[in-house]
Amino acid sequence: MKNRKIIYWSLGFLFVTSIILGSILLFLGSDSKTKVTFLDVGQGDSILISNGSAQILVDGGESRKVLLEKLGRLIPFWDRKIEVLVLTHPDADHVSGLLGVLQSYEVKLIVVTGYDSQTKVQQAWEKLIEQENADVVDAVQGTKIVAGSNLTAEILFPFYSVDVSGKGKSNNSSVVMKIQSGQKSFLLTGDIAKREENEMIERGIDLSADVLKVAHHGSKNSTGEKFLSAVDPSEAIISVGADNKYGHPHENTLSALGNGEIEVLRTDKEGDVAYECDDKKCELIE
Ligand SMILES: [Zn+2]
Repeated sequence: MKNRKIIYWSLGFLFVTSIILGSILLFLGSDSKTKVTFLDVGQGDSILISNGSAQILVDGGESRKVLLEKLGRLIPFWDRKIEVLVLTHPDADHVSGLLGVLQSYEVKLIVVTGYDSQTKVQQAWEKLIEQENADVVDAVQGTKIVAGSNLTAEILFPFYSVDVSGKGKSNNSSVVMKIQSGQKSFLLTGDIAKREENEMIERGIDLSADVLKVAHHGSKNSTGEKFLSAVDPSEAIISVGADNKYGHPHENTLSALGNGEIEVLRTDKEGDVAYECDDKKCELIE
């Protein structure tokens, strides 16, 4: 309990300092090429953004083994460091795989909300964070991670530090991020629902993006009409497990995407979906 208090105090302190510093968290090593990979981790989310030897990993799916195998193929064997780890929210299909990352890699910066789901998996995650010699910062709107001129990651939601009491739903506290690399932008939405989508629209947040990571694995409670027209993507990624028990993605979400003439790429059908971007172009490579 004492440790937890210390963590929250330091989160508050870092939140204040991040405002003073103009909310730019970290400058990573700059490389002219960025790769954005939506990993096929079954039912769950995991997105790896690599720039040179620097990595930002957003969520980790539900299996340590699956995630470590994927990372082993995408990160050179000599690179045992992951620069930034972002947990959108502490549900098992997003956090469980990250436990293996904390055990196997050195992590420099961990970005989280203060949401406490009071679950065993979150307790295990927090215990590993205490052992990791990483900076832990609060995910709030305006926070930016910059890697040279080719890669910027900006947090669009939540607006304030999330209540730590665990009231409400974990999904509704999800971190939303916009990744800008060269000419292309990617909107990562965790498992937010229509309520959070509308809150961002009402606040005038610029949601426009070329590629939308569809929220909550294509659930019918997300990806409202207004939100979709605010983002106006040309491609949509659905990170989902084959024949999952939730019935994701919902047919309404698929038809909304179809009506918008948006190309849909699903990890259960395509496997990993990867883009390679430089200053001039950003292409789907697998
Ligand atoms: Zn999920």
